[in-house]
Amino acid sequence: MLLVRGMAKPKINKTKKKKVKVDVSIKESKDDDLGKKYPKAKFQKISTERRQKIESVVKELVSEEAVPIVLYLIGKTRVSEFIIAGELDLEIHKARNLLYKLLEHNVLFFHRKKDKIKGWYICYWDFNEKIIPFLDDKIKVNKLTKLKERLEKESSSTFYMCKNACTRMDFEKAMEFNFKCPECGELMDEQNNVRTVEFLKERIQELHEEISK
Ligand SMILES: [Zn+2]
Repeated sequence: MLLVRGMAKPKINKTKKKKVKVDVSIKESKDDDLGKKYPKAKFQKISTERRQKIESVVKELVSEEAVPIVLYLIGKTRVSEFIIAGELDLEIHKARNLLYKLLEHNVLFFHRKKDKIKGWYICYWDFNEKIIPFLDDKIKVNKLTKLKERLEKESSSTFYMCKNACTRMDFEKAMEFNFKCPECGELMDEQNNVRTVEFLKERIQELHEEISK
């Protein structure tokens, strides 16, 4: 059974991977860092740029623990979840948990096959790499929206901060507390947020540029 593959943007991918026959090529080009950490597994060596993009998307959407699974699947097709768990030293339940989380974001897809001898179903997994640039943009757009909301708030209000730095709040909220810190009772001062606003503007500009690339 083939599950839904994510729609990737029609975009020219410079690092498009070559179709490779699995076993042979992997032995020739192992990823040494990962190889040391997971001595049982073989990783295909990929460019730093390609690896960083995959890592940042997977960390953001799932977790750091899920990264080796995705990198392990590069250059391989239909890998049994038992193999994945075994070679990456994960409990099968842990491995499945991460695999399903990756599936939720369409980073992976799977085929299910009945084991002829044991009679149960086993999932065979593939990495849907073409969705990575699309997810990367989506993450950046979400960040941009949040930064813009924050900038809007920072620019339209005055902020108050406790002298002992326990709390920071906007004018309305500070008024509710009579300008006294709800944590320690110290008087709160108006805070100059020019640098925060500048920082937000810069970050917004950077993200705009990254997205339009
Ligand atoms: Zn305080």
